Amino acid sequence: MTDYVLPDLPYDYSALEPYIAGEIMELHHGKHHATYVKGINTTVEQLAEMRDKAEYAPLNAYEKNLAFHLGGHVNHSVFWPNMSPDGGDKPTGELAQVLDEYFGGFDRFRAHFEANALSVQGSGWSVLTWDVVAQRPFIIQHFDHQGNVPICMVPLLMLDMWEHAYYLQYKNDKATFVKQWWNIVNWADVQQRFDRARTQTPGLIL
Ligand code: MN
Repeated sequence: MTDYVLPDLPYDYSALEPYIAGEIMELHHGKHHATYVKGINTTVEQLAEMRDKAEYAPLNAYEKNLAFHLGGHVNHSVFWPNMSPDGGDKPTGELAQVLDEYFGGFDRFRAHFEANALSVQGSGWSVLTWDVVAQRPFIIQHFDHQGNVPICMVPLLMLDMWEHAYYLQYKNDKATFVKQWWNIVNWADVQQRFDRARTQTPGLIL
């Protein structure tokens, strides 16, 4: 039995066109995300085998693979439903109120999030998170899939800034990719994640 499975996309590969090409989506989901799922399942098996043999020499490599592949799997599993062919516009209700309160309005939030995405060095992610300790949002960067991640953060909105997410269509023009991406952001999904994150009991971690 495998612990982790590749989730189906909630739309067709070509559904996000013209903003993200179907070819990108097919490779991104069917190859890249699938590789992370395979990687984490392999790592789980390797850790069990290591314990059986009580030979711990590969432990450091397995720990790195665990963080990388599990990070990749979780990030993409949030990223897909964060987008929708019916997306775009801006959030409403309590999510909009929180963005107003902590970022000074939606336009300032968007400018900060875009700058965050464009300043990721190498491969990484731009992420709107909910800090369950302070009960407040942050915009953070992930290095690769797993680096630079405070442990108390629940992801609400994730943007993949690895080259595989845009290069076939946008080449090196990642600023245009990020600007176009707002047209497919699924704010209803972000709101649902926000609602669930806020049910995390204060005191869960600290
Ligand atoms: Mn990716």
